[in-house]
Amino acid sequence: MNRSHENEHLGFSDTPVLPDSGYTVHDGTRPQPKVVTPGSDGSPPADATVLFDGTSLESWEPVRENETGRWKILEDGSMEVVPSEGDIQTRKSFGDIQLHLEFRCPVKIKGNGQGRGNSGVFLMGRYEIQVLDNFQNPTYSDGTVGAIYGQTPPLANAVRQPGEWNLYEIFWEAPVFENGERIKAAKVTAILNGIVVQHATELQGPTINKALPPEEPQESTGPLRLQDHGDLVRFRNIWVRRLGQRDELF
Ligand code: MG
Repeated sequence: MNRSHENEHLGFSDTPVLPDSGYTVHDGTRPQPKVVTPGSDGSPPADATVLFDGTSLESWEPVRENETGRWKILEDGSMEVVPSEGDIQTRKSFGDIQLHLEFRCPVKIKGNGQGRGNSGVFLMGRYEIQVLDNFQNPTYSDGTVGAIYGQTPPLANAVRQPGEWNLYEIFWEAPVFENGERIKAAKVTAILNGIVVQHATELQGPTINKALPPEEPQESTGPLRLQDHGDLVRFRNIWVRRLGQRDELF
């Protein structure tokens, strides 16, 4: 407990003690929430780590050695997948985060099912939240936009029409390992275009295609990775904030 008695006058000390924190109900000495200035007109909040603002890819690097990761920066302030240049990932690693990201699937419809507007957001480099043009384009449920790919379908298909911008707000809790064992699974809540698509969903393990999740590396941080699935998907306005108390995982 970190009591700051200068603020005692803000609250009460003759109230019952909350069992989880040791503070009293309405305790004036309980630390004040930090002040964070929100963004306006879609700009990031003051304490965000901006990963892409439309000007440069300097926060990003290729994932695989034989690929360049040279995606295109477009005049509309977005970056676009360049097929076969490969996935890209942030140079920094993150644990528990709030992630803001916008994506747009190609206006020109090409392919169907998993072959239309496919990309993905990989938390910690290995857990994929699907990006796909599912507008009047069904596919297997656990591969639908908003799915934890191969594990958990979204609660709704909330994608917009091809060519329109979609907004993801993702709240990610890293897995926790202790003495060689996972004591807490990774957990995610995701909101797509204002609609909850994952609600405190626990992950079974890392993402893989057509198989059960493989063994999970015992890591609680990793880079944010975006997928090159061969489609001209665009991303813009990408930023993260620390989520919760586990600041050391940022
Ligand atoms: Mg994908």
